[in-house]
Amino acid sequence: MALYAAAAAVLAGVESRQGSIKGLVYASRFQNVKQLYALVCEAQRYASVLDAVIERAGLLRAEKKLRPHLAQVLVYELLLGRGFRGGGGRWKPVLDRHRARLKAELARLKVQRGVSRNEDLLDAGTRPGAASQVPRFVRVNTLKTCSDDAVDYFKRQGFTYQGRASGLEDLQALRGKCFLLDPLLSELLVFPAQTDLHDHPLYQAGHLILQDKASCLPAMLLAPPPGSQVIDACAAPGNKTSHLAALMKNQGKIFAFDLDAKRLASMATLLARAGVSCCELAEKDFLSVPPSDQRYQQVQYILLDPSCSGSGMLSRQLEEPGAGGPSRERLQALAGFQQRALGHALSFPSLRRLVYSTCSLCREENEDVVQEALQQSAGAFRLAPALPSWPHRGLSTFPGAEHCLRASPDTTLTGGFFVAVFERVEVPSPDSPAEVPPPERAEPGPAPKRRKRRRRAAPGAPPTGP
Ligand code: SAM
Repeated sequence: MALYAAAAAVLAGVESRQGSIKGLVYASRFQNVKQLYALVCEAQRYASVLDAVIERAGLLRAEKKLRPHLAQVLVYELLLGRGFRGGGGRWKPVLDRHRARLKAELARLKVQRGVSRNEDLLDAGTRPGAASQVPRFVRVNTLKTCSDDAVDYFKRQGFTYQGRASGLEDLQALRGKCFLLDPLLSELLVFPAQTDLHDHPLYQAGHLILQDKASCLPAMLLAPPPGSQVIDACAAPGNKTSHLAALMKNQGKIFAFDLDAKRLASMATLLARAGVSCCELAEKDFLSVPPSDQRYQQVQYILLDPSCSGSGMLSRQLEEPGAGGPSRERLQALAGFQQRALGHALSFPSLRRLVYSTCSLCREENEDVVQEALQQSAGAFRLAPALPSWPHRGLSTFPGAEHCLRASPDTTLTGGFFVAVFERVEVPSPDSPAEVPPPERAEPGPAPKRRKRRRRAAPGAPPTGP
């Protein structure tokens, strides 16, 4: 299919909600995916301007066979893009006939709106905003290499290494073929926003993971030491699982669950490429995983990154700027699942620390879920301050919500994200359903003595398991 017809088909599909731009671009089978994706994003960004110019120039009235989405794409190329790089086919002479009128209407629109540049015609909501300024973060997979070696590789490829950043200003100032080490995570390299490393040999070989900085926080804050037993409750496609495995140096065990067979299949590929060997994948509803099962009796760490509205995702902010949030019904359904999953996770008997995260901006999926879980746990768990120096905190909807952290393009130069860290309170509350009574007060039988020692170890201390 020719470039312009493919782009028009994607625009039509997005409008009729058949999928996201990215999904439809891949589904189109057009060979040059990058070219098609860029053209569709730009045509969509300028859609209201293009529609105004097309209407004023009477293009669709004059050319009855020209469909509106194809007209948007062709007029974008003619007036705002790089000319007819896709050839234009039979439509080129048609557009050439209208070229002068279309140009005049664009010029008139600018005069009317008092602007001189095409970009200034964009509505505030569609102006390339903070989301497009978020740098490209690259996590070095320490199961396969180390930051120094990755830095050397890029230097040999002509990139300029600027050392460790001292703050967000350094990240903001990145340009061209320069890169930095993140000020917070020593295994995170930072490149300018437009850097595309999907074809890079280090990425292809699993030495690098393309992962936003905010999405590196959950594993970093869970911090399971090597040898731990960990559950990743909603794991696919597995970026956080591979991060956990790297922190654990592939020692110990990660039980990774997901409902979605397709996502699990890509996860298996990702983990194999990343050299992860300590993970057991299972296609399972996490809610049906029994906390009393002997296999999970040593699990002290749980990562819960459940399905969410994704309202903080960069791709969404870039593709659907100004789009409304999820509907009330959808939010209620998501928050209901998130609450059940969190309550279930907190009922694992040896659990010491749990990280709950979403890429949602909605309070209903974040602070409200956390508050409800704390109430349900009746004092058995509390919130640990998550990275106190992180500038963007949880919304003050309940006392202690500031222990949670939020992330956004504007405040932290990352995607939109939310993280809460739960830790078990040292003195267990006897009436908590999440608690196993300490051995001295236990009913005959259940709690072996060594579990008590393990649960009372300081967070982050090496596991005491066999
Ligand atoms: N943690 C993943 C990562 O970093 O790559 C992303 C997880 S994604 C936000 C949420 C995942 O939860 C989806 O893959 C979805 O299939 C899975 N999921 C939804 N409901 C589930 C359930 N009841 N049990 C297990 N997984 C579930």
